[in-house]
Formats: sequence, structure tokens, C-alpha cells
Amino acid sequence: MSGGDKLDFEIRPNPAPVSAADRAALLANPGFGRVFTDHMVTIRYADGKGWYDARVEARAPIPMDPASAVLHYAQEIFEGLKAYQSVDGGVTLFRPEANAARFAASARRMAMPELPEQAFLESLEHLVGIDRDWIPSVEGGSLYLRPFMFASEVFLGVRPANEYLYVLIASPVGSYFSGGVQPVTVWVSPDYTRAAPGGTGAAKCGGNYAASLVAQAEAIEHGCDQVVFLDAVERRWVDELGGMNVFFVYDDGSLVTPPLTGTILPGITRESVLRLAERAGHTVAEQPVSFEQWQADAASGRLREVFACGTAAVITPIGEVRHPGGSFTVGDGGPGAVTMSVRQQLVDIQRGAADDEYGWVRRVR
Ligand SMILES: *Cc1c(COP(=O)(O)O)cnc(C)c1O
Repeated sequence: MSGGDKLDFEIRPNPAPVSAADRAALLANPGFGRVFTDHMVTIRYADGKGWYDARVEARAPIPMDPASAVLHYAQEIFEGLKAYQSVDGGVTLFRPEANAARFAASARRMAMPELPEQAFLESLEHLVGIDRDWIPSVEGGSLYLRPFMFASEVFLGVRPANEYLYVLIASPVGSYFSGGVQPVTVWVSPDYTRAAPGGTGAAKCGGNYAASLVAQAEAIEHGCDQVVFLDAVERRWVDELGGMNVFFVYDDGSLVTPPLTGTILPGITRESVLRLAERAGHTVAEQPVSFEQWQADAASGRLREVFACGTAAVITPIGEVRHPGGSFTVGDGGPGAVTMSVRQQLVDIQRGAADDEYGWVRRVR
């Protein structure tokens, strides 16, 4: 299949789905990424043949040859988005077209074939449709969707593989913040960087995460929740967290986030925050922020709030910053008013509780 050709999905319902009672017990407290639904979607790709064998089937282990290319050279990319129970009883996705486009961009960077947007979106609709009873109804809950693709060719030579498997799985998740939104403490890594110019920082690939884990572990050792990465060249400019983008809010009401120069993952939440803040009358800018300036502005009080953003936690206030030279707080260390207001606007749109004037919400049921 190529370009706009339509892929037919074969539906093979799980013959032994989880019982309603067991599912209800799992949905009462799903946590994050531990509980999975009854089905998955798989689509295969081979050079010369294109995309084929699209299926909705029982979620099951994937048989894999030990020489599968992904296990050796890490040609793997993924996405993350959520299906929400809308206030009117329907089911919605938030900007899934943006995830489809980013998945294709990640594929290009990793020398992988692009899954057509249409097939990506249909895979989401099929899985959310067949597993709709897995969407938690608890406040703040959602069905986290994880599309991913990897090199499945059995070959140890170093070159782009010529066979790939696309898979979509779903995991019900509870509210990220069970006891109200809590600010996090971040660790500014002195030793590790996440992405260098010309590297894979703008691609959503598993390899970026593998490289960030030791820095995240270092953050935990220092009593922090998350790591902040500085740029790889000067070790001076703030890039982002391990899996979230970052925003600075100043006393004049302006918001600043580092620009997308290739070392930062282009977050869909980031882009949405830029639009919403501007609509609410804030000046927004994509500008480099140095770590020295961050410290100086926090000390002078010019910097009022800092927050991280991404699909999993939506918007997370950053209260305290630790680094090898000491620590400091931003504002009074609590969630800031601008942070919480942007968060609310975003959550309301995602849940269908506010006008979707940008056409971000896609109804799937
Ligand atoms: C996915 C991701 C983000 C956030 O992107 P969203 O589209 O907002 O979920 C930010 N940084 C990294 C490194 C990511 O992988």
C-alpha cells in the first residue's frame, strides 16, 4: 500500500476477554502503564510490498527472532496519546493528526517507512472502539494509547531494515495527580545530555529514553522527581525534561519556552499551550533560556512560575530546582496561577467541557 490507498483492517475479537468484574477491579486503580486492554492492532511492512496485514486482534506476546534488527540497532519509534470520556458521554482523542504527523517525522529520521496518517488514525479508532469499556470513568482517568513501530527484519547487517511491525496497544490510566496537582522538584543534570545538534532529539524514539534513564536515576538519587537537560554544546541552555517540555512564566505575564532547534521533542501539549496562552492574552515566545538566567530570575522574583508539559501529566508545576551547586525555588514553590489556568483550559477542551475553537478534538464514538 502506498500514499492514500486504504488499508483494510481484519477484526479478530479476543475469544477470552477479561470479565466485566475483573475489568472493573483493574479500572478502580489502574496506575500508569500496568494494565492493558483486551486487544491490539498490528500492521506489517515489507519493502516492495508496502503496508499489509492490518489486524485488530487479541493482545498477545509478539514472537521475535533473536536477530530481529530492532534488538541490535534500535530502529524503534513510538507515540503517546489519550482517549477521553467526553462530558457528553462520547469518546474523544486530542489532536491525533498531530501524533500521526510526528510519527511520520520520527520514522523519516530513523530511516523507517512512514505509516500513512489515515492508517494511523484508523488504527486508533478501531482499538478505542473495540476496547471502549476500558476507558476509566474516574475523574482524570483516560485510555492511554501507545502506537509504536520497530525493525522486524531478521538481519544483523547495519542498514535500514526492510521489514517493520507497527503495533498499537492501550492502557487505562488513572489521574496523574491523585491528591490534587503537586509541584515537582527537578534535577539539572551536570553530566548527561539528551540530544545533540544533528542527533535524534526531535524524534520520538526509544533510544532517546534509553539514554536518559541514567540521568533520571541520578535525579531520583538527589531526591528529585525529574531531570532537566541542558544543551549538549554549551551545557548552558535549557532543553527539556526526559519526557516533557518546559515553560517559564514571568511577572509581566509572558510565557517563554525553548525553541525547536532539533534537540527538543516538538510536544503537542507544548504547541497547544502556546496557542491557549496567547489566546488568553499572554505574550508568548520561543526563546532560549539559560540555566544562569533561570536562577537569576527566580532569585529576583521576575520569574514567577515554571511548568513542564506533556500528554501523560498534561501540565506539572516545577516548584524546586536542584543542581550540584545548590537549590532554589520558583515563586513560592507552589503551583502558579498561570500554570493552573492554562492546565484547566487544556483539560476542559480535552474533556469536551469547553469550546473546541481550534478543532483539536476528534470524536471517535
Ligand atoms: C512525548 C515527549 C514530550 C511531550 O510531547 P506531547 O506531544 O506533549 O505528549 C516531550 N518531550 C519528550 C522527550 C517526549 O518524548
